[in-house]
Amino acid sequence: MNVKRQTLEESAKRCLEDRGVTMRDIAELVYFLQKDYLEELTLETCEENIEAVLKKREVQNAILTGVQLDILAEQGKLMQPLQEIIDTDEGLYGIDEIMALAIVNVYGTIGFTNYGYIDKVKPGILARLNCHGDNNVHTFLDDIVGAIAAAAASRLAHSMPETKFEIKKDTTD
Ligand code: MG
Repeated sequence: MNVKRQTLEESAKRCLEDRGVTMRDIAELVYFLQKDYLEELTLETCEENIEAVLKKREVQNAILTGVQLDILAEQGKLMQPLQEIIDTDEGLYGIDEIMALAIVNVYGTIGFTNYGYIDKVKPGILARLNCHGDNNVHTFLDDIVGAIAAAAASRLAHSMPETKFEIKKDTTD
């Protein structure tokens, strides 16, 4: 039997797609975070930076692990009390946010600020993932998607031309 094995990157991307998250959805989050700082920012540039984030092993692992837990919770296959905690997206659980930090970390501390902000405001796809309207569980996915966008926004920020600082000369002596 000829079985084609997927790379971790392909599997992680497939996971996002299968859960209804497109590259464009994440690109819109990156655009939301960076539009005020980069005048000619396009969604295409945002997508290029997301692609770079998705090449990181720790990001791929976080996607696969988090989405798997969401799916097992949907199927009622987790142990109690974890089943109920993840199924109801219990506010004090916090491990979903901790897993997101593995992604946020990859492009430096600016990612923390971006992630905290986007997690609070919940624009675009994040609002949809958080609506709890259907039987889907996105307890991990919403944080993962926000973290990918935050990391891509940080990568973009780091790629900006270097800021020049004006140094005032002290003329008093
Ligand atoms: Mg969550």
